[in-house]
Amino acid sequence: MKLAIYPGSFDPVTYGHLEIISRASKLFDKLVVLVSVNPSKPSAFSIEERKQLLEEVVKAEGLTNVEIDSHEGLLIDYFNKRNADVIVKGLRALSDFEYEFQMAQANRKLCYKAETIFLTAKSENTYLSSSMVKQIAMFGGDVSDFVPECILDRITTRLKKD
Ligand code: ADP
Repeated sequence: MKLAIYPGSFDPVTYGHLEIISRASKLFDKLVVLVSVNPSKPSAFSIEERKQLLEEVVKAEGLTNVEIDSHEGLLIDYFNKRNADVIVKGLRALSDFEYEFQMAQANRKLCYKAETIFLTAKSENTYLSSSMVKQIAMFGGDVSDFVPECILDRITTRLKKD
């Protein structure tokens, strides 16, 4: 059984993330979407909220081989604990590449079997990020093209309050 881990902040999940989740779920027997806790990156949604939003989106898409989890600490520790095979990352543009390349090398140095596979974003999603969604929604802008419909109301209400 091939197990893949897709780590990220998902603060909140966007159509860009969902597209990667959906494609990766077809490539592996099981995909764990891992909400990674990054203490140096301020977040708008709590870990529990981010997990809940992901759960709903994955359920609405009918992706039965996708599990949602969270982890604080080194990704590679989680990877080893789950005896995973692959780390999945999404690449939007060249700007993502340098950081992701460095992370992939570092993870492989920490664990030789940790292969990172990159899925390139589809062209409509290359500009899309959680931070962009947050900025637009905080000022009451329309983010319906950016986040899945089943969580749209929750995201806009929650971010407008902030
Ligand atoms: P961000 O906060 O920048 O949206 P995350 O940390 O949540 O990013 O991203 C997790 C993973 O998903 C990363 O590999 C990132 O490159 C990828 N990703 C984020 N947004 C998109 C998108 N619009 N299309 C494809 N991949 C994406």
